[in-house]
Amino acid sequence: MDSNESIARRTDASIVANYGRQPLALVRGEGMYLWDADGRRYLDMMGGIATTVLGHCHPRVVEALERQARALWHVSNLYHTGPPVELAERLCASSFAERVFFCNSGAEANEAALKLVRRYARDRGEDRFEIVVFDQAFHGRTLFTLSATPNPAYQKGFEPMVPGIREARFGDLDSVRRVLGPQTAAILVEPVQGEGGVRPADPAFLRGLRELADANGCLLVFDEIQTGMGRTGRLFAHEHHDVTPDVMTLAKALGNGAPIGAMLTRESIASSLVPGTHGSTFGGNLLACACGVAVIDELLEGGVLERSRRTSQHLDTGLARLAARLGERIVEVRGSGFLRGIQVHGEAGKVVAAARERGVLVIVAGPDVVRLAPALIAEPGELDTCLEVLEGAISSL
Ligand SMILES: *Cc1c(COP(=O)(O)O)cnc(C)c1O
Repeated sequence: MDSNESIARRTDASIVANYGRQPLALVRGEGMYLWDADGRRYLDMMGGIATTVLGHCHPRVVEALERQARALWHVSNLYHTGPPVELAERLCASSFAERVFFCNSGAEANEAALKLVRRYARDRGEDRFEIVVFDQAFHGRTLFTLSATPNPAYQKGFEPMVPGIREARFGDLDSVRRVLGPQTAAILVEPVQGEGGVRPADPAFLRGLRELADANGCLLVFDEIQTGMGRTGRLFAHEHHDVTPDVMTLAKALGNGAPIGAMLTRESIASSLVPGTHGSTFGGNLLACACGVAVIDELLEGGVLERSRRTSQHLDTGLARLAARLGERIVEVRGSGFLRGIQVHGEAGKVVAAARERGVLVIVAGPDVVRLAPALIAEPGELDTCLEVLEGAISSL
Protein backbone atom coordinates (compact mmCIF):
# COMPACT_ATOMS: atom_id res chain seq x y z
CA MET A 1 0.00 0.00 0.00
CA ASP A 2 1.17 3.48 -0.84
CA SER A 3 1.75 5.92 2.00
CA ASN A 4 0.74 9.60 2.15
CA GLU A 5 4.29 10.48 1.35
CA SER A 6 4.72 8.23 -1.67
CA ILE A 7 1.39 9.28 -3.20
CA ALA A 8 2.32 12.93 -2.65
CA ARG A 9 5.65 12.34 -4.36
CA ARG A 10 3.97 10.67 -7.33
CA THR A 11 1.41 13.51 -7.51
CA ASP A 12 4.21 16.03 -7.86
CA ALA A 13 5.83 13.93 -10.58
CA SER A 14 2.72 13.36 -12.69
CA ILE A 15 0.01 15.94 -12.07
CA VAL A 16 0.03 19.64 -13.01
CA ALA A 17 0.92 21.58 -9.90
CA ASN A 18 -1.97 24.06 -10.06
CA TYR A 19 -3.24 23.20 -6.57
CA GLY A 20 -1.71 23.71 -3.16
CA ARG A 21 -2.44 20.32 -1.63
CA GLN A 22 -2.45 19.30 2.02
CA PRO A 23 0.17 16.63 2.71
CA LEU A 24 -2.43 13.86 2.86
CA ALA A 25 -3.57 11.18 0.46
CA LEU A 26 -7.19 10.35 1.26
CA VAL A 27 -8.23 6.84 0.38
CA ARG A 28 -11.61 6.19 1.99
CA GLY A 29 -14.63 8.04 3.31
CA GLU A 30 -17.70 7.17 5.33
CA GLY A 31 -20.22 9.72 6.55
CA MET A 32 -18.36 12.48 8.39
CA TYR A 33 -15.00 10.70 8.32
CA LEU A 34 -12.05 10.31 5.95
CA TRP A 35 -9.04 8.02 6.17
CA ASP A 36 -5.61 8.75 4.76
CA ALA A 37 -3.16 6.33 3.17
CA ASP A 38 -1.36 5.90 6.50
CA GLY A 39 -4.58 4.74 8.13
CA ARG A 40 -5.29 7.89 10.11
CA ARG A 41 -8.90 9.04 10.52
CA TYR A 42 -10.10 12.65 10.14
CA LEU A 43 -13.34 14.41 10.97
CA ASP A 44 -14.31 16.07 7.70
CA MET A 45 -15.63 19.57 8.28
CA MET A 46 -15.00 20.81 4.75
CA GLY A 47 -17.07 18.28 2.78
CA GLY A 48 -14.99 18.33 -0.39
CA ILE A 49 -15.40 22.13 -0.52
CA ALA A 50 -19.10 22.25 0.30
CA THR A 51 -19.87 19.32 -1.95
CA THR A 52 -20.50 16.07 -0.05
CA VAL A 53 -23.64 17.42 1.59
CA LEU A 54 -24.84 13.95 2.70
CA GLY A 55 -21.43 12.75 3.84
CA HIS A 56 -19.09 10.32 2.14
CA CYS A 57 -20.44 7.27 0.35
CA HIS A 58 -24.00 7.91 1.49
CA PRO A 59 -25.86 4.59 1.07
CA ARG A 60 -28.78 6.11 -0.85
CA VAL A 61 -26.46 7.81 -3.34
CA VAL A 62 -24.23 4.74 -3.67
CA GLU A 63 -27.28 2.63 -4.37
CA ALA A 64 -28.61 5.04 -6.99
CA LEU A 65 -25.21 5.18 -8.65
CA GLU A 66 -24.82 1.39 -8.66
CA ARG A 67 -28.29 0.89 -10.06
CA GLN A 68 -27.68 3.37 -12.86
CA ALA A 69 -24.18 2.00 -13.52
CA ARG A 70 -25.76 -1.36 -14.32
CA ALA A 71 -28.51 0.12 -16.51
CA LEU A 72 -26.89 2.78 -18.71
CA TRP A 73 -24.00 5.25 -18.48
CA HIS A 74 -24.03 7.55 -21.43
CA VAL A 75 -25.83 7.99 -24.74
CA SER A 76 -25.45 11.77 -25.37
CA ASN A 77 -28.11 14.42 -25.54
CA LEU A 78 -29.22 13.22 -28.95
CA TYR A 79 -31.68 10.99 -27.08
CA HIS A 80 -34.17 11.26 -24.24
CA THR A 81 -33.13 9.62 -20.98
CA GLY A 82 -34.73 9.22 -17.56
CA PRO A 83 -32.37 10.47 -14.82
CA PRO A 84 -31.97 14.07 -16.10
CA VAL A 85 -35.76 14.39 -16.33
CA GLU A 86 -36.19 12.98 -12.82
CA LEU A 87 -33.71 15.50 -11.47
CA ALA A 88 -34.99 18.46 -13.49
CA GLU A 89 -38.58 17.78 -12.38
CA ARG A 90 -37.49 17.74 -8.75
CA LEU A 91 -35.41 20.92 -9.08
CA CYS A 92 -38.28 22.75 -10.79
CA ALA A 93 -40.80 21.50 -8.22
CA SER A 94 -38.59 22.87 -5.43
CA SER A 95 -37.72 26.25 -6.94
CA PHE A 96 -38.91 29.15 -9.09
CA ALA A 97 -37.48 27.40 -12.15
CA GLU A 98 -39.36 25.86 -15.06
CA ARG A 99 -36.39 24.61 -17.12
CA VAL A 100 -32.99 23.15 -16.30
CA PHE A 101 -29.80 22.92 -18.35
CA PHE A 102 -27.36 20.31 -17.08
CA CYS A 103 -23.58 20.47 -17.31
CA ASN A 104 -20.64 19.07 -15.36
CA SER A 105 -19.35 21.80 -13.08
CA GLY A 106 -20.04 25.12 -11.48
CA ALA A 107 -18.04 27.09 -14.01
CA GLU A 108 -20.02 25.51 -16.83
CA ALA A 109 -23.30 26.31 -15.09
CA ASN A 110 -22.28 29.97 -14.81
CA GLU A 111 -20.91 29.93 -18.34
CA ALA A 112 -24.34 28.75 -19.54
CA ALA A 113 -26.05 31.46 -17.48
CA LEU A 114 -23.78 34.19 -18.86
CA LYS A 115 -24.25 33.06 -22.43
CA LEU A 116 -28.01 32.76 -21.89
CA VAL A 117 -28.47 36.29 -20.54
CA ARG A 118 -26.68 37.75 -23.56
CA ARG A 119 -28.60 35.63 -26.03
CA TYR A 120 -31.90 36.42 -24.32
CA ALA A 121 -31.27 40.16 -24.72
CA ARG A 122 -30.29 39.78 -28.36
CA ASP A 123 -33.40 37.71 -29.04
CA ARG A 124 -35.44 40.65 -27.80
CA GLY A 125 -33.56 43.02 -30.08
CA GLU A 126 -31.64 44.68 -27.26
CA ASP A 127 -27.90 45.24 -27.29
CA ARG A 128 -27.38 44.09 -23.72
CA PHE A 129 -24.15 42.24 -23.07
CA GLU A 130 -22.70 43.66 -19.84
CA ILE A 131 -22.61 41.61 -16.66
CA VAL A 132 -22.49 43.30 -13.26
CA VAL A 133 -20.37 41.35 -10.76
CA PHE A 134 -19.03 42.06 -7.28
CA ASP A 135 -15.71 42.41 -5.52
CA GLN A 136 -14.55 39.16 -3.92
CA ALA A 137 -16.97 37.16 -6.07
CA PHE A 138 -16.00 33.73 -7.33
CA HIS A 139 -17.77 32.30 -10.36
CA GLY A 140 -15.32 29.81 -11.87
CA ARG A 141 -12.22 29.35 -13.99
CA THR A 142 -13.41 29.26 -17.60
CA LEU A 143 -12.51 32.49 -19.36
CA PHE A 144 -16.00 34.02 -19.14
CA THR A 145 -16.52 33.03 -15.50
CA LEU A 146 -12.96 34.04 -14.64
CA SER A 147 -13.68 37.40 -16.26
CA ALA A 148 -16.68 37.62 -13.92
CA THR A 149 -14.38 36.86 -10.96
CA PRO A 150 -12.62 40.16 -10.33
CA ASN A 151 -9.61 38.70 -8.55
CA PRO A 152 -6.35 39.98 -10.10
CA ALA A 153 -4.41 36.97 -8.78
CA TYR A 154 -6.69 34.58 -10.69
CA GLN A 155 -6.83 36.67 -13.88
CA LYS A 156 -3.15 37.53 -14.13
CA GLY A 157 -1.52 36.23 -17.27
CA PHE A 158 -4.80 35.09 -18.84
CA GLU A 159 -5.77 38.48 -20.25
CA PRO A 160 -7.52 39.76 -22.22
CA MET A 161 -10.64 38.99 -20.23
CA VAL A 162 -14.08 38.66 -21.85
CA PRO A 163 -15.33 42.22 -22.42
CA GLY A 164 -18.44 43.66 -20.80
CA ILE A 165 -17.84 42.83 -17.14
CA ARG A 166 -18.70 45.69 -14.76
CA GLU A 167 -17.65 45.49 -11.14
CA ALA A 168 -19.70 46.84 -8.26
CA ARG A 169 -19.27 46.58 -4.49
CA PHE A 170 -20.91 43.68 -2.66
CA GLY A 171 -23.57 45.17 -0.38
CA ASP A 172 -23.51 48.62 -2.01
CA LEU A 173 -26.59 49.30 -4.14
CA ASP A 174 -25.33 52.74 -5.18
CA SER A 175 -22.27 51.14 -6.74
CA VAL A 176 -24.64 48.93 -8.75
CA ARG A 177 -26.72 51.92 -9.87
CA ARG A 178 -23.53 53.53 -11.18
CA VAL A 179 -22.70 50.64 -13.53
CA LEU A 180 -26.21 49.68 -14.65
CA GLY A 181 -27.20 50.93 -18.08
CA PRO A 182 -28.95 50.12 -21.33
CA GLN A 183 -26.23 47.58 -22.10
CA THR A 184 -26.64 45.57 -18.87
CA ALA A 185 -27.67 42.00 -19.56
CA ALA A 186 -27.57 40.72 -15.99
CA ILE A 187 -26.47 41.15 -12.40
CA LEU A 188 -24.61 38.04 -11.18
CA VAL A 189 -24.31 37.53 -7.42
CA GLU A 190 -23.73 34.86 -4.78
CA PRO A 191 -26.31 35.11 -1.94
CA VAL A 192 -23.38 34.22 0.32
CA GLN A 193 -19.94 34.79 -1.16
CA GLY A 194 -18.21 31.48 -0.53
CA GLU A 195 -14.62 31.62 -1.76
CA GLY A 196 -14.62 35.36 -1.06
CA GLY A 197 -14.68 34.77 2.69
CA VAL A 198 -18.16 33.43 3.55
CA ARG A 199 -19.74 36.88 3.23
CA PRO A 200 -23.56 36.72 3.40
CA ALA A 201 -25.37 39.35 1.37
CA ASP A 202 -27.66 41.59 3.35
CA PRO A 203 -31.29 40.61 2.60
CA ALA A 204 -32.02 44.26 1.73
CA PHE A 205 -29.13 44.20 -0.73
CA LEU A 206 -30.52 41.15 -2.54
CA ARG A 207 -34.00 42.65 -2.64
CA GLY A 208 -32.49 45.92 -3.87
CA LEU A 209 -30.74 44.06 -6.68
CA ARG A 210 -34.06 42.53 -7.67
CA GLU A 211 -35.65 46.00 -7.83
CA LEU A 212 -32.72 47.48 -9.76
CA ALA A 213 -32.74 44.61 -12.26
CA ASP A 214 -36.48 45.01 -12.81
CA ALA A 215 -36.23 48.78 -13.21
CA ASN A 216 -33.33 48.41 -15.63
CA GLY A 217 -34.87 45.55 -17.58
CA CYS A 218 -31.93 43.21 -17.07
CA LEU A 219 -31.88 39.75 -15.50
CA LEU A 220 -30.83 38.74 -11.98
CA VAL A 221 -28.65 35.63 -11.69
CA PHE A 222 -27.95 33.93 -8.37
CA ASP A 223 -24.85 31.77 -8.23
CA GLU A 224 -25.96 29.18 -5.64
CA ILE A 225 -23.23 26.74 -6.60
CA GLN A 226 -21.89 26.78 -3.06
CA THR A 227 -24.99 27.88 -1.13
CA GLY A 228 -27.52 25.63 -2.85
CA MET A 229 -28.73 22.14 -1.95
CA GLY A 230 -29.38 22.84 1.71
CA ARG A 231 -26.11 24.38 2.75
CA THR A 232 -27.68 27.38 4.53
CA GLY A 233 -30.65 25.55 6.04
CA ARG A 234 -33.01 26.01 3.10
CA LEU A 235 -32.71 24.17 -0.19
CA PHE A 236 -31.56 27.45 -1.78
CA ALA A 237 -30.10 30.36 0.16
CA HIS A 238 -32.29 32.98 -1.53
CA GLU A 239 -35.36 31.34 0.02
CA HIS A 240 -34.40 32.99 3.31
CA HIS A 241 -34.84 36.43 1.82
CA ASP A 242 -38.07 36.47 -0.15
CA VAL A 243 -36.31 37.33 -3.40
CA THR A 244 -36.36 35.29 -6.58
CA PRO A 245 -33.74 35.35 -9.32
CA ASP A 246 -34.38 34.89 -13.04
CA VAL A 247 -31.57 32.38 -13.34
CA MET A 248 -29.87 30.22 -10.70
CA THR A 249 -26.79 28.06 -10.98
CA LEU A 250 -26.01 24.95 -8.95
CA ALA A 251 -23.18 22.45 -8.80
CA LYS A 252 -21.07 21.44 -5.79
CA ALA A 253 -23.53 19.56 -3.55
CA LEU A 254 -25.94 18.67 -6.35
CA GLY A 255 -24.39 15.24 -6.89
CA ASN A 256 -22.82 14.76 -3.41
CA GLY A 257 -19.47 14.53 -5.20
CA ALA A 258 -20.59 13.22 -8.58
CA PRO A 259 -19.58 15.94 -11.05
CA ILE A 260 -22.68 17.83 -12.12
CA GLY A 261 -23.77 21.43 -12.63
CA ALA A 262 -27.12 22.94 -13.47
CA MET A 263 -28.53 26.21 -14.72
CA LEU A 264 -32.15 26.83 -13.79
CA THR A 265 -34.49 29.44 -15.21
CA ARG A 266 -38.01 30.21 -16.37
CA GLU A 267 -39.39 28.92 -19.64
CA SER A 268 -39.62 32.38 -21.19
CA ILE A 269 -35.86 32.89 -20.72
CA ALA A 270 -34.78 29.30 -21.39
CA SER A 271 -36.46 29.50 -24.78
CA SER A 272 -33.49 31.54 -26.06
CA LEU A 273 -31.39 28.37 -26.05
CA VAL A 274 -32.84 26.72 -29.13
CA PRO A 275 -31.19 23.62 -30.65
CA GLY A 276 -27.60 24.28 -31.60
CA THR A 277 -27.04 27.33 -29.38
CA HIS A 278 -25.39 25.60 -26.43
CA GLY A 279 -24.51 22.11 -25.31
CA SER A 280 -22.27 19.66 -23.50
CA THR A 281 -21.35 16.07 -24.30
CA PHE A 282 -21.50 14.94 -20.69
CA GLY A 283 -24.17 17.43 -19.54
CA GLY A 284 -27.03 15.53 -17.94
CA ASN A 285 -24.79 12.51 -17.55
CA LEU A 286 -26.90 9.60 -16.34
CA LEU A 287 -24.63 8.57 -13.45
CA ALA A 288 -24.36 12.11 -12.11
CA CYS A 289 -28.10 12.78 -12.51
CA ALA A 290 -28.98 9.52 -10.74
CA CYS A 291 -26.84 10.72 -7.82
CA GLY A 292 -28.56 14.12 -7.94
CA VAL A 293 -31.99 12.54 -7.65
CA ALA A 294 -30.86 10.59 -4.58
CA VAL A 295 -29.38 13.75 -3.04
CA ILE A 296 -32.48 15.90 -3.39
CA ASP A 297 -34.76 13.07 -2.22
CA GLU A 298 -32.62 12.43 0.85
CA LEU A 299 -32.44 16.15 1.67
CA LEU A 300 -36.18 16.71 1.36
CA GLU A 301 -38.22 13.56 2.01
CA GLY A 302 -35.36 11.87 3.86
CA GLY A 303 -35.49 14.74 6.36
CA VAL A 304 -31.78 15.57 6.27
CA LEU A 305 -32.34 19.24 5.49
CA GLU A 306 -34.91 19.71 8.23
CA ARG A 307 -32.75 17.96 10.78
CA SER A 308 -29.72 20.02 9.79
CA ARG A 309 -31.60 23.17 10.74
CA ARG A 310 -31.69 21.94 14.33
CA THR A 311 -28.09 20.75 14.47
CA SER A 312 -26.91 24.00 12.91
CA GLN A 313 -28.33 25.83 15.93
CA HIS A 314 -25.79 23.88 17.91
CA LEU A 315 -23.18 25.40 15.64
CA ASP A 316 -24.62 28.89 16.24
CA THR A 317 -24.16 28.44 19.99
CA GLY A 318 -20.76 26.79 19.67
CA LEU A 319 -19.37 29.46 17.36
CA ALA A 320 -20.69 32.27 19.55
CA ARG A 321 -18.97 30.62 22.54
CA LEU A 322 -15.76 30.18 20.54
CA ALA A 323 -15.82 33.86 19.53
CA ALA A 324 -16.41 34.90 23.14
CA ARG A 325 -13.63 32.67 24.47
CA LEU A 326 -11.04 33.65 21.88
CA GLY A 327 -11.92 37.34 22.04
CA GLU A 328 -9.55 39.41 19.99
CA ARG A 329 -8.06 36.48 18.13
CA ILE A 330 -11.26 36.31 16.12
CA VAL A 331 -12.34 39.20 13.90
CA GLU A 332 -15.78 37.88 13.02
CA VAL A 333 -17.84 34.71 12.72
CA ARG A 334 -20.11 34.66 9.65
CA GLY A 335 -22.51 32.50 7.70
CA SER A 336 -25.41 30.26 8.55
CA GLY A 337 -26.47 26.65 8.42
CA PHE A 338 -23.53 24.49 7.43
CA LEU A 339 -21.54 27.20 5.68
CA ARG A 340 -19.53 29.23 8.18
CA GLY A 341 -16.53 31.47 8.11
CA ILE A 342 -14.29 32.36 11.03
CA GLN A 343 -12.19 35.41 10.24
CA VAL A 344 -9.03 35.34 12.32
CA HIS A 345 -6.15 37.69 13.00
CA GLY A 346 -3.44 35.87 11.12
CA GLU A 347 -3.18 33.21 8.47
CA ALA A 348 -6.17 30.92 8.09
CA GLY A 349 -3.86 28.37 6.43
CA LYS A 350 -2.03 27.91 9.74
CA VAL A 351 -5.31 27.10 11.47
CA VAL A 352 -6.12 24.59 8.73
CA ALA A 353 -2.75 22.89 9.23
CA ALA A 354 -3.02 22.85 13.02
CA ALA A 355 -6.56 21.43 12.89
CA ARG A 356 -5.42 18.75 10.44
CA GLU A 357 -2.67 17.68 12.85
CA ARG A 358 -5.41 17.33 15.45
CA GLY A 359 -7.53 15.20 13.10
CA VAL A 360 -10.04 17.75 11.78
CA LEU A 361 -10.19 18.91 8.16
CA VAL A 362 -11.29 22.49 7.49
CA ILE A 363 -10.45 24.84 4.61
CA VAL A 364 -9.82 28.52 4.03
CA ALA A 365 -11.98 31.11 2.25
CA GLY A 366 -9.43 33.79 1.49
CA PRO A 367 -6.24 34.51 3.44
CA ASP A 368 -7.73 35.04 6.90
CA VAL A 369 -11.00 33.11 6.93
CA VAL A 370 -11.36 29.52 8.13
CA ARG A 371 -14.32 27.89 6.37
CA LEU A 372 -16.56 25.12 7.66
CA ALA A 373 -18.74 23.34 5.09
CA PRO A 374 -19.44 19.92 6.59
CA ALA A 375 -22.06 17.41 5.51
CA LEU A 376 -25.54 18.17 6.78
CA ILE A 377 -25.51 14.87 8.68
CA ALA A 378 -22.98 16.16 11.23
CA GLU A 379 -23.92 15.28 14.81
CA PRO A 380 -23.74 17.86 17.62
CA GLY A 381 -20.86 15.93 19.20
CA GLU A 382 -18.87 16.13 15.96
CA LEU A 383 -19.48 19.86 15.74
CA ASP A 384 -18.24 20.19 19.33
CA THR A 385 -15.09 18.22 18.49
CA CYS A 386 -14.43 20.51 15.57
CA LEU A 387 -14.92 23.67 17.62
CA GLU A 388 -12.68 22.34 20.40
CA VAL A 389 -9.92 21.61 17.91
CA LEU A 390 -10.38 24.99 16.25
CA GLU A 391 -10.12 26.72 19.59
CA GLY A 392 -6.74 25.14 20.13
CA ALA A 393 -5.64 25.82 16.57
CA ILE A 394 -6.67 29.48 16.62
CA SER A 395 -5.17 30.00 20.10
CA SER A 396 -1.80 28.83 18.80
CA LEU A 397 -1.77 31.37 15.94
C1 LIG B 1 -17.05 26.39 -6.68
C2 LIG B 1 -17.80 27.55 -7.22
C3 LIG B 1 -17.84 27.81 -8.60
C4 LIG B 1 -17.06 27.01 -9.60
O1 LIG B 1 -17.44 25.68 -9.62
P1 LIG B 1 -16.49 24.58 -10.35
O2 LIG B 1 -17.27 23.32 -10.25
O3 LIG B 1 -15.20 24.58 -9.60
O4 LIG B 1 -16.29 25.05 -11.74
C5 LIG B 1 -18.61 28.88 -9.03
N1 LIG B 1 -19.28 29.65 -8.17
C6 LIG B 1 -19.27 29.43 -6.84
C7 LIG B 1 -20.06 30.30 -5.93
C8 LIG B 1 -18.51 28.38 -6.32
O5 LIG B 1 -18.47 28.18 -5.01
